Amino acid sequence: MEWKPDALKELEKVPEHVRSMAKMGIETAIEKKGKNIVSIEDVNEAALQFRALMGKEEKEAEAKTTKIAVIRCDIVSETCPGVACFKAFNKRKVHFEQYGKDAEMIGFFTCGGCPGRRIFRLVDSLMKHDVDVIHLSSCMLLEKSYAKCPHIEEIKQMIANKGVKIVEGTHH
Ligand code: SF4
Repeated sequence: MEWKPDALKELEKVPEHVRSMAKMGIETAIEKKGKNIVSIEDVNEAALQFRALMGKEEKEAEAKTTKIAVIRCDIVSETCPGVACFKAFNKRKVHFEQYGKDAEMIGFFTCGGCPGRRIFRLVDSLMKHDVDVIHLSSCMLLEKSYAKCPHIEEIKQMIANKGVKIVEGTHH
């Protein structure tokens, strides 16, 4: 297979560790076209196809990512920075153990105070970012360490009405 000089120069822009593979791929495509000379147009066409393929794969990978948000008690947040929730998420423990490495925490916010006045609007906002699941932090559910949230059932209903999956708990 013959390569025109400008085509070869263009090929040199391909990172070295994948260059021979790219060369082989282009030559195979050229052979299929019944040609035996590689032009710069052929190289550019292959580069375009490669970028389109990579873009598609990236989009598919992004689509598979689980997007998670956590709602926490506004009162408790005055004394808790949320470290235990993040530790559990980062290590995929307790109520986060079902998620893979690609899961992302896209929101972490307080309810806004009783009776959860901020939740309705913030869940709407999260839905625009394709949130998959909302965790209710353990501080909203525990009965010993903190007073259990008296509005928890209304809050759960509000989120469920929007069709977003709920998981009860974070690190406990
Ligand atoms: S609504 Fe529940 S979670 Fe929110 S501040 Fe009141 S007790 Fe805490």
